[in-house]
Amino acid sequence: MTRRVAVWWVKRDARLADNACLAEAERLDLDVLPLFCFEPSLLTADDTSAMHVHAQWQAVGGLRAGLRKLGADIVVAHGEAIEKLAKLHAVVPFTHLFAHEEIGNGITFRRDQAVAAWCREQGVEYHEFPQSSVRRGGVNRDRLQRMWRSRIADVVPLPVIAVRQSEDLRRLAAASAFPKLPAFAPNLLWQPVNETDARTTLVDFLGRRGRWYRGGISSPNTAFTAGSRLSVHLAWGTISARQVWHAVRDRLAELDPADPTSPRWKQSLEAFVSRLHWRDHFTQRLESEPELEFRSIHPKYRDVPYENDERLHAAWRDGRTGYPLVDAVMRCLAATGFVNFRMRAMVTSFACHVLHLDWRLIHPHLARVFRDYDPGIHLNQLQMQAGVVGWNAIRVYNPTKQLADWDAEGRFVKRWVPELKGVPAEQIVRGEPLPDYPLPVVPFAERAKWMTDALYAIRKSAEAKAATAGVYFKHGSRRKETTFRPRRPKRPAPPPTPSLFDGDGSD
Ligand SMILES: Cc1cc2nc3c(=O)[nH]c(=O)nc-3n(C[C@H](O)[C@H](O)[C@H](O)COP(=O)(O)OP(=O)(O)OC[C@H]3O[C@@H](n4cnc5c(N)ncnc54)[C@H](O)[C@@H]3O)c2cc1C
Repeated sequence: MTRRVAVWWVKRDARLADNACLAEAERLDLDVLPLFCFEPSLLTADDTSAMHVHAQWQAVGGLRAGLRKLGADIVVAHGEAIEKLAKLHAVVPFTHLFAHEEIGNGITFRRDQAVAAWCREQGVEYHEFPQSSVRRGGVNRDRLQRMWRSRIADVVPLPVIAVRQSEDLRRLAAASAFPKLPAFAPNLLWQPVNETDARTTLVDFLGRRGRWYRGGISSPNTAFTAGSRLSVHLAWGTISARQVWHAVRDRLAELDPADPTSPRWKQSLEAFVSRLHWRDHFTQRLESEPELEFRSIHPKYRDVPYENDERLHAAWRDGRTGYPLVDAVMRCLAATGFVNFRMRAMVTSFACHVLHLDWRLIHPHLARVFRDYDPGIHLNQLQMQAGVVGWNAIRVYNPTKQLADWDAEGRFVKRWVPELKGVPAEQIVRGEPLPDYPLPVVPFAERAKWMTDALYAIRKSAEAKAATAGVYFKHGSRRKETTFRPRRPKRPAPPPTPSLFDGDGSD
């Protein structure tokens, strides 16, 4: 008798562990055929770059190697998902389609809806499994803690299980070679993205590097090792937040009170866990309101008077603003795909508050140079750092002060702006004109003041104040979410006011 087949549609979830699609196929006693599509609509999107394509390429390559060890394989295709699913269905009339939920940009949002409709037409049973605490379609924010408990904290990550695949399916999958894609030159500075590396990175962070997390993630000199460096893996799904959270909990449980390093470990790991919560907090916003890819979350900040001067945009993008730390960060990002939170916030704040560039204008370039590009975090952080959310403090990072605070010896700046190699660090840090280096493209203080005045004028208006309460109620966080033993709040969440804490991930 021919066995029924489930297609596991691989998207941002190229992993074998903690895989609900494989577990469901096993539960229903189905053969599994994994399918990954390099989709032209995504490959050519303005927020996609070679860095991302390479990340997925590596992730799927790693998955294929893992599947082969289990005696199975994956179909790798080049084409739109619907088209490839239809083609596959004509050859292998699969009865089920399983996928992990993806909370992405408008393109993936519409594609997922179209795939669900196609399944209904074909009589294919389609099931999407959550891989975070984010609730499809939106959630009452008062219930987010509960979602975290029921999806992450109270659910043990699934182990790697056998993948049942008939010989015919395996042969069909093995015949699919990685498609030829537009040429890109992989860069050795790009962080590897595959399930094996995700596990190694987690183990290394929890066993060694994580001790320095607290206090270590602010400087671009230390964050490359003190940060978990799990963002690429969480973004592309080579590890799940559940796996990470449970590993941290186990690590905390085994801390020895007699060990003098334990208090530092505890502080660091708790600070790290709060970032995992922020991740879902921001992603939930995008899920609840996909339009925030295109417009600010707060209706009264949709007409901020940006200049959008193309010359300033190009100077910022190419690292030629005459502000050494801004230029170093932009060049470091272009080369490595990574920089720490504080530096990301600084270049965003600089672009919006000082160069007067719209956050929507800078979004595609920043997305492209973040190897860990994750729309839910990214779009919300852009808006937050641009000061258009309506209730967070408007923070303007002064790049000269940031340089003095976090790179006083000029190590980071000299690495990425080699023109400054021979200049004494003290001279760079003073913010004076430097030999063989452009003068600042605009003056910092007066430009920043002009924009913050404009933003505060909006904030003080009666219309903005009235709208803030509603936006906060829908999207604001209710309390700091860091604990490993979440308690039930005694009272309902406090009424929305603009001054309530809303974590932005700042360190
Ligand atoms: C303008 C801007 C854009 C950003 N865009 C992205 C993005 O596209 N993808 C991305 O993963 N992170 C983004 N971040 C958040 C943050 O800078 C990175 O997650 C972090 O620097 C990655 O380093 P790490 O893996 O060592 O993270 P850690 O500090 O070890 O944090 C662990 C994980 O928590 C999550 N996280 C960390 N900080 C935040 C935060 N502030 N808000 C929400 N989640 C957080 C990430 O998934 C991260 O991997 C952005 C920040 C800013 C200011």
